[in-house]
Amino acid sequence: MKAAAFDYTRPRDLADLLRQLAGTTDAKIIAGGQSLVPMMAMRLVRPALLVDINDVQELQNITLEDDCVAIGACTRQADVEKSDTIRQHLPLLARALPFIGHDQTRNRGTVGGSLAHADPSAEIVLVAVALQAELTLARAEGERISSADDFLAGPMTTTLEEDECLVAIRFPRWTEAGRLGVGFHEVSPRAGDFAVVAAAAQLLLEEGGVCRRAAVAVANATPMPVRLTTVENALLGAVMDQKTVGEAAALADALID
Ligand code: FAD
Repeated sequence: MKAAAFDYTRPRDLADLLRQLAGTTDAKIIAGGQSLVPMMAMRLVRPALLVDINDVQELQNITLEDDCVAIGACTRQADVEKSDTIRQHLPLLARALPFIGHDQTRNRGTVGGSLAHADPSAEIVLVAVALQAELTLARAEGERISSADDFLAGPMTTTLEEDECLVAIRFPRWTEAGRLGVGFHEVSPRAGDFAVVAAAAQLLLEEGGVCRRAAVAVANATPMPVRLTTVENALLGAVMDQKTVGEAAALADALID
């Protein structure tokens, strides 16, 4: 099928974008189009107005801040994947990105689009939950901050208001002394497919291999990606040896469907 008829607008900056969104009732933002266009072609969504944000430069950036890395919502996944700042300061996101679709989709798909689409198996959504990312949402009247957990209301469902735009995502970076380790694994029928199930972990170890900080999260083993805080707490203060890892894995297994 083909998309139902729609009007189209292409704001030239953030102020123009928020002005055009104000007061709209049946508009959809289009970023990379990698999820929205197939949804429109299948007539799963029929927006009356498409607001194309690809010219809004304020939404395309990767910025190292004191305690986080801020990523503009319309930053391409491929640019994040190639970024030295991400590789150095957000190794878990760097590890997850190659699992998203294909080079072609990552060249167009954006970080904000993945979160706003809120597919429960999306790798960026899983990392945002694991690292407790904060999202900045803007409308003509002003901005608000939401945690990833609060923003993601359910499968393909967010708390985004009709006239709001996701403008930035802040992924906390762990700056304490110690050795940082990450793991990202997913099971999917073919490379590039969405995950049947995925798991993400980031650990900070101090001398002697004692775990000082842990983030462990799963996707598609629960309705939305979720942190396994019981597992995280079991790891804190433990020496990361095979016995500890085995016990943590058994605990995770008991917590998921
Ligand atoms: P769009 O498609 O433009 O928009 C998606 C949704 O988000 C729309 O509802 C849109 O209105 C909204 N939106 C976008 N940006 C904003 C914003 N700034 N503020 C408010 N709302 C916004 N994704 C994965 O996670 N893992 C995969 O393995 C995967 N495989 C794929 C394979 C193929 C062949 C294809 C075509 C896609 C795949 N995707 C996958 C989905 C896609 O690549 C993106 O990850 C993402 O879901 C869409 O990003 P986008 O920028 O293209 O968003």
